[in-house]
Amino acid sequence: MKSPLKLASWLVAAGRPEGPGAPLNTPLVPASNFARGGERTYARSDGTPTWEALETVVGGLEGGEAVAFASGMAAAAAVFDLLPVGAQVVLPQDCYQGVVALAEAGAARGRWRVARVPLEDTAAWERACAEADLLWLESPSNPLLRLADLAAICAAPRKPEGILVVDNTFATPLNQRPLEMGASLSVHSATKLIGGHSDLLAGVAVAREAALAQALRKARELAGAVPGALEAFLAVRGIRTLALRLERAQENAQVLASRLAQHPRVARVHYPGLPSHPQHALARRSLKGFGTIISFELEGGADAADALCARVRLIRHATSLGGVESSLERRSALPGQAHLPPSLVRLSVGIEDVEDLWADLEAALG
Ligand SMILES: *Cc1c(COP(=O)(O)O)cnc(C)c1O
Repeated sequence: MKSPLKLASWLVAAGRPEGPGAPLNTPLVPASNFARGGERTYARSDGTPTWEALETVVGGLEGGEAVAFASGMAAAAAVFDLLPVGAQVVLPQDCYQGVVALAEAGAARGRWRVARVPLEDTAAWERACAEADLLWLESPSNPLLRLADLAAICAAPRKPEGILVVDNTFATPLNQRPLEMGASLSVHSATKLIGGHSDLLAGVAVAREAALAQALRKARELAGAVPGALEAFLAVRGIRTLALRLERAQENAQVLASRLAQHPRVARVHYPGLPSHPQHALARRSLKGFGTIISFELEGGADAADALCARVRLIRHATSLGGVESSLERRSALPGQAHLPPSLVRLSVGIEDVEDLWADLEAALG
């Protein structure tokens, strides 16, 4: 499915019912089953109009065939489920902890083998492409905002049947379109920027090839990893404003990242939009925008970071990211994150007035 419109128009216009008298918005259809004789019988196997609207919008943005899931992790689990026993899986060293935990749990049961490669090591990824059954890339990465040279890695020859996934949650299809570069799948936690309001859990996997989309639809049906009707409805409602939200939050993030980098209590800022980011040149070349997530390290270690998290007022001390409201947390306080710098704070920048956000951060930094 290719969008004939500019992406910012497609995400407003796509997936709406057509015809005289049709409602402009796709209705929330809370149905498990449908009367015989039509195109669907049972929602878990055949879908609902509400999830299909979400699939239409996201599929067009990514330029592929989308399959909606109950969460980003449900989408990831469906991808791993496609692997043959004994498969070789390659993950980045910096990667969303849930995906790492999923991969390690399967490896511990002997289901597959896992290797970890730094995102920056393009040659190692290119070599891995020739051997791996699943290459899982995340760029920019969570939470260190590292980048992979996706254009180079996606173009490297792959094992037949090898699947290359890009977790595109941080960039969104408005900043980066992995399928165009040659990725097999672009995967989203729609819980984050696509939904945009911290009011739902959903995931989407978008495939370049129809056969892979079909395999994922089957995996979803068998695992029952289907999105809820309300969640799909809210995700469609949320994605309508993605272009505006992203633009505003990104502008805010650039300002906050620059100011944080100059603050005496801040030891280091990780943001692809800063010239000090080690991969800033790659970011300029490969991303349309630098995203809404910043991470930074404080002078004074974990205690200083905990104090900051406790003192912010407008910015909420909470996990997750991608909502209209700004939030932050100290990442190494979470299970499975002990490898991160102890004072690393991940800040999800929202759409508030940037001066209010800065005043809050400055006061909390003390
Ligand atoms: C949150 C997140 C996920 C998991 O998504 P859920 O919707 O929470 O299941 C996957 N990848 C990234 C980069 C995330 O931030």
